[in-house]
Amino acid sequence: MSHRENLSVVIHAAGDLRLENRPVTEPRSNEVLLKINSVGICGTDIHFWERGGTAGFDINKPLTLGHEFSGTVVEVGSGVEHLKAGDRVAVEPGFPKKNDEFVKSGRYNLTLTDYTAGLPPNNGAMCQYLAHNANYCFKIPDSLSFEEGAMIEPLSVAIHACHRGKVTIGKMIFICGAGTIGLMCMLVAKTMGVAQVVICDLNSSRLEVAKKLGADFTIKVDGETPQILAKKVRAALGAMPDVSLECSGAELCVQASIYATRSGGTVVLVGTEEDHVNIPIIQAIIREVDIRGVFKYCNTWPIAINMLVLNRIDVKPLVTHRFPLNEVHKAFATTKAGKGVKVILKCDPSDPDE
Ligand SMILES: [Zn+2]
Repeated sequence: MSHRENLSVVIHAAGDLRLENRPVTEPRSNEVLLKINSVGICGTDIHFWERGGTAGFDINKPLTLGHEFSGTVVEVGSGVEHLKAGDRVAVEPGFPKKNDEFVKSGRYNLTLTDYTAGLPPNNGAMCQYLAHNANYCFKIPDSLSFEEGAMIEPLSVAIHACHRGKVTIGKMIFICGAGTIGLMCMLVAKTMGVAQVVICDLNSSRLEVAKKLGADFTIKVDGETPQILAKKVRAALGAMPDVSLECSGAELCVQASIYATRSGGTVVLVGTEEDHVNIPIIQAIIREVDIRGVFKYCNTWPIAINMLVLNRIDVKPLVTHRFPLNEVHKAFATTKAGKGVKVILKCDPSDPDE
């Protein structure tokens, strides 16, 4: 293999993010080597940068970040038949390493032997070249941009969350948090035919975006108690929501989601922030409010690609900032400051997308 430069965004410890040249690994028989084009910066990446870890994953050795990505196949392992050099792909970053009981039952996101690019100990895609399991690289047509390809990862979280919450036609929906995941949940819920969506956030510019993207009602969270927030939700919808999708991870919002949701309804916990959160558990018990967790996604890439190709969902307005790889520190600072919605790193200056 010819020598390739591979500038990579490497986290060494909390606060220590470096741009450095890393070796390129050759694709194994079941892998393709990807020339990375677009990578989304996620709240998880910011957690790694700020704290050196998140949700049980800690940085013990230098790690290349990046799990929301798309690129072009440049080399194909000997056993790969469905992809060839030049194919543009959206990539599912994680996959099971063994055919355990969860894989067999169709819930491979719960596997105990998970590999995920960009989560310790596996290097991610904020770089120029990455080898990845070809079965989790999904070909995208020329009509989809690389940025849309990268946005399929957060879109997948939303599709899975809506499935977990049994979101369906005519339901009333409450969404906490108008960041990328909250907005994605709103777009997916709307596409699924829900009646109305109310979405809350601390940040009024995010609520403006939500309004533009189709939120029926927005609530600016402003120091109220969770009970009062729940009352505002009910007042906005004219009814208690059937499903609450909690995408902020904030304790107040988890509590408000439980208070707000109608008896027999469902709270889906999508956001992760703290290890422990106090919840009004009696509310959940005596009103039979189901509380459901969400871990990543399962079988969502084909669905997401269909929806994007057929223009049934538009994720492009969520991409508000783009930075070349060598401006990664600016890109992370922009994300951390909560400016805009999704910040994308452009790793391939020779293929600028759009
Ligand atoms: Zn992410």
